[in-house]
Amino acid sequence: MTDCLFCKIIAGEIPSSKVYEDDLIFVFKDINPKAEIHLLIIPKEHIDRLDNVSESQAPVLTAMLQKLPELAESQGLTDGFRTIINTGPAGGQEVYHLHMHLLGGKQLPGFH
Ligand code: C5P
Repeated sequence: MTDCLFCKIIAGEIPSSKVYEDDLIFVFKDINPKAEIHLLIIPKEHIDRLDNVSESQAPVLTAMLQKLPELAESQGLTDGFRTIINTGPAGGQEVYHLHMHLLGGKQLPGFH
């Protein structure tokens, strides 16, 4: 999708602080971190939002989740972390390319 900010980041047309990439996913540091460590994990294929993932696209969700322990360890998050996927306007999604936030570092406040 040519007009998508995160597709442009994956393509290297917009600079980012890349942490990891493979065939399915791309991981970079959030430009406006909301925690000491704040990464974004995104599928390379353009998928606009979590509730639009088709069955054939579902393996990328597994890939995103399976990478979490390694990413957390690489960032020194040895005692846990938080993941968030904002979905749609009511969910506070701002960028319409599916992304999972990985947050950690200092103790995060409760989320109740
Ligand atoms: O979940 P939501 O759509 O609100 O999150 C979008 C995230 O993308 C924000 O945390 C924002 O800081 C990040 N962002 C970024 N690089 C950009 C534009 C947005 O890391 N160039």
